Amino acid sequence: MTHVNTMARKTTGDIVIIGAGAAGLAAAVELAAAGRAIHIIEARDRIGGRICTRHEPDVPIPIELGAEFIHGASPEILDWLRRANEPFADATQTRWMSVKGKLQPADDVFEEMKRELKRVRRPRKDLPFGQFLDEVASRKLSPRSQAFARMLVEGFDAADTSRVSTFEILEEWNGDGAADAPTFRPLNGYGALIQSMVSNVSSENVRVHLTTAVREIHWKRGQVRIIASTLGESVEIEAPKAIVTLPLGVLQLPSHAPGGISFRPALASKQEALAQLASGPVIKVILRFRSPFWEALDAGKYRGAAFFQSAESLFPTYWTSLPARSSLIVAWTAGPNAARLAGSNEHDIVRAALDGLESVFGSSAPIRECFVGAYCHDWQADMFACGAYSYVVAGGASAREALAQPVQNTLFFAGEAAEFEGEAATVAGALRSGQRAARQVLRAIAGAQHRHKRR
Ligand SMILES: Cc1cc2nc3c(=O)[nH]c(=O)nc-3n(C[C@H](O)[C@H](O)[C@H](O)COP(=O)(O)OP(=O)(O)OC[C@H]3O[C@@H](n4cnc5c(N)ncnc54)[C@H](O)[C@@H]3O)c2cc1C
Repeated sequence: MTHVNTMARKTTGDIVIIGAGAAGLAAAVELAAAGRAIHIIEARDRIGGRICTRHEPDVPIPIELGAEFIHGASPEILDWLRRANEPFADATQTRWMSVKGKLQPADDVFEEMKRELKRVRRPRKDLPFGQFLDEVASRKLSPRSQAFARMLVEGFDAADTSRVSTFEILEEWNGDGAADAPTFRPLNGYGALIQSMVSNVSSENVRVHLTTAVREIHWKRGQVRIIASTLGESVEIEAPKAIVTLPLGVLQLPSHAPGGISFRPALASKQEALAQLASGPVIKVILRFRSPFWEALDAGKYRGAAFFQSAESLFPTYWTSLPARSSLIVAWTAGPNAARLAGSNEHDIVRAALDGLESVFGSSAPIRECFVGAYCHDWQADMFACGAYSYVVAGGASAREALAQPVQNTLFFAGEAAEFEGEAATVAGALRSGQRAARQVLRAIAGAQHRHKRR
């Protein structure tokens, strides 16, 4: 894979891939293996997209500002890591929940909620999960399960309970990627997955144009012309086919908004799907302490703790780096809580994360004395993401599949939001969607060649 500076005004290739995240790179690997010449256009100055691993010389573990866990034994990811000899480990799942200001063990809370939910009849018509909880499920669910269900939907799915599809949530909780499924961590960080993909594509076939932000996509059957800006210059890249892996939030921006992309002609066939999906906000803060102070609290009872949760805080979820021991704690806010904070300055965000931690451990815990610094990313405010990951709005069961449909065998769609086989919103889903789009492109090319020969 060659990184190029797109200063030539016009470039051509077989296929253009827009976005060098997991989906774009997965597509590139498949297409390069089939001998195709590819241009990848990426707005950021790095590849990886919502995989954003930092390594600091004085921090013993990778700092993950984006994706961190492997949800379920996903072959898409684990095979890559195995091939690259990259270690991964079971992520510790022990959970404590703050109830009326006191931490209580809560390892069984997910199981308990699922058990209680089995007594609730699935509604015939899809409805927003919040309405389902209030009007259908509340009588069968304990107050603890109700609070946890809401926290999970807002925190894990980054969703707004007044919008998200009940069908989607119930399906997810019974699937392989649910919060209680086996979960792993790539021990050198998700960046290792990206590196192992990069080292798998030949440099002649794949050119990556970094800091090149697409603004316009002009297309007609068999021809795509992309207009992008790089370092204040306008450049054009042409190809017969393009794979669009832009994040949902970017695709949903009005074309005249900053960062908005103008399809010409407009993609009328995608409008319904785009309206039935939403991109959830997440702010992730990695708090760094002089020592893991929580391990010494209450006679060491939190030494094996992975998750701490508190429904009352703007940051309802915290986690440690177990099984690796470190003095880092991740503070996580998503959904409506994150929307309230999105766009705030970093100082206020970190203060809210520390305040929340104090509400979990109590004000006598030496949180501020031990605090050294923080790494922070607001994914809603990130103009090349406009949200963390996607969810389906009530009534939108077929939206992901509709988003993924190719348009006139010319524009193809990938990215976590366009995955429709149960892995959406994850790295595994992004990889799978990229592979699927690449195969669709190759089939379209083979079909065209076949028709040409018959003539
Ligand atoms: C905070 C956070 C935590 C997460 N945790 C997990 C986790 O633990 N496990 C998990 O499996 N998943 C997790 N995810 C989700 C996972 O990161 C994503 O589903 C996946 O990385 C998305 O890959 P993608 O290729 O679809 O999109 P992206 O990685 O976003 O790739 C799209 C690319 O398009 C580029 N782009 C945007 N606009 C333009 C433009 N105008 N021109 C050119 N390029 C553009 C972007 O810069 C980006 O590189 C998390 C996500 C976030 C944000």
